[in-house]
Amino acid sequence: MACRSALRLHYEIVVTHQLMNTFDTDNLARLSKLQPRVIQASEHRMPVHGISRNALTVLRRLRAARFQAYLVGGCVRDLLLDLHPKDFDVATDAHPEQVRELFRNCILIGRRFRLAHVRFGPEIIEISTFRAPHRQGEDGMVRKGRIIRDNVYGNMTDDAWRRDFTINALFYDAAENVLVDYNEGWEDLRRRRLRLIGEPRQRYLEDPVRMLRAIRFAAKLDFEIAPASAAPITQLAQYLGEIPSARLFDEFSKLFLSGYAVRVWELLSAHQLAERLFSGINAGPCAAPEDANTRLPRMAMEDTDRRIAARLPVTPAFLIAALLWPELRGETARLERKGRATEAERADLAADTVLSRQVKQLAIPRRFSIMVREIWQLQHALQRHAGGARRHVDALCRKKRIRAAYDFLLLRMRAGEPVQQAADWWTALQEREPHAFPGKARAPDDAREAHAPPRHRKRRRRRTHR
Ligand code: ATP
Ligand code: MG
Repeated sequence: MACRSALRLHYEIVVTHQLMNTFDTDNLARLSKLQPRVIQASEHRMPVHGISRNALTVLRRLRAARFQAYLVGGCVRDLLLDLHPKDFDVATDAHPEQVRELFRNCILIGRRFRLAHVRFGPEIIEISTFRAPHRQGEDGMVRKGRIIRDNVYGNMTDDAWRRDFTINALFYDAAENVLVDYNEGWEDLRRRRLRLIGEPRQRYLEDPVRMLRAIRFAAKLDFEIAPASAAPITQLAQYLGEIPSARLFDEFSKLFLSGYAVRVWELLSAHQLAERLFSGINAGPCAAPEDANTRLPRMAMEDTDRRIAARLPVTPAFLIAALLWPELRGETARLERKGRATEAERADLAADTVLSRQVKQLAIPRRFSIMVREIWQLQHALQRHAGGARRHVDALCRKKRIRAAYDFLLLRMRAGEPVQQAADWWTALQEREPHAFPGKARAPDDAREAHAPPRHRKRRRRRTHR
């Protein structure tokens, strides 16, 4: 008897491994027979006080209407790691329309991945219906291995297996205070390991953004990417080119504006993903920090991380201006060697070339590319008019992006470019005339903090994907 059950256990383990390796629709259906591991409160010690009251309200109301409802994803992962979740996601067997009937404050969003958003003042609780695997031509659409649309509903097991990383697939049952774990996510969380669910190559091909998510979570959580999940990344990096640019920009912002940009950059460079996002990058700036060109982007990332830690606002435009700066300088030098045009015209031409090359890889929304260009354009003027005629200085001081441009000049100086004289002159001007630049004047020590726009009001949570 004991022998028979041991055999069955062995069979289940083998089958599970085979299924994890093949990961197709039928296998997933068979997988739904497998039992998850239920982790009791005494073991997981979820800090319940950290859960949003609104999320608990949503869970309660769904359950009262006899639906299943769990917290899932980043909020469960972050709470278990004693971090503050960015937001709270709920998974349920209720369909989006059924969710909408339960909550007055609910809207349905997304085409590729239909979701319900329930709003409580500034907080939005996102509710997704359990998803099943997708078949060609159905509403869960797969094209050339890529998931185009993902709207086939399934049960909780299916949903656990379609998620990206094991640590993102832990379900928390607030009523029972237990975790439900289908993929050994709990074990990975404890070992601080990021492991893709299923066969890594296939999962990255289905959705190449998962490669960037791997980097983001590894950097944010300081987790190791499991070797089998890390191995295919470099080889598949090219597939990032197939991701719609708006989604890629969204992911870029999450990667670089969450407070760990330096680590993200190191990991992106190590996996040869950096050059897939930024056209002019061959070896990552962090890899060779010895000259001004490579130092500047790294310093901009360090500043960004510091500002976020200090809860100061940041703009992607400043970082993009810094990341593309080495390429811009190279392009300007090339035009100079060719003896083309005036200095100002060369700067314009170079900016055109660099930005148009860039948008082929990672489209930058116009409002940011305009700002990048203005920051660059003003560099030349800031150098030229330092200590110059008052009318030129006054005209420059009235420019909208003068503060960001001045900060960029300081960054260049710190990176070792020969612009100290000009930078000192503009700093002295602001000390003498604190209102020289538009906007709120700052203490000189704060001058380097100037590159951000006014703090945004909390905006609605935006989803371009799941
Ligand atoms: P954070 O919100 O901190 O950035 P998160 O893990 O919550 O991290 P979300 O983008 O909010 O990330 O996604 C919520 C959950 O949805 C994830 O935890 C994961 O389970 C699932 N998910 C998100 N994107 C994907 C994807 N591209 N492929 C598979 N599952 C995904
Ligand atoms: Mg989340």
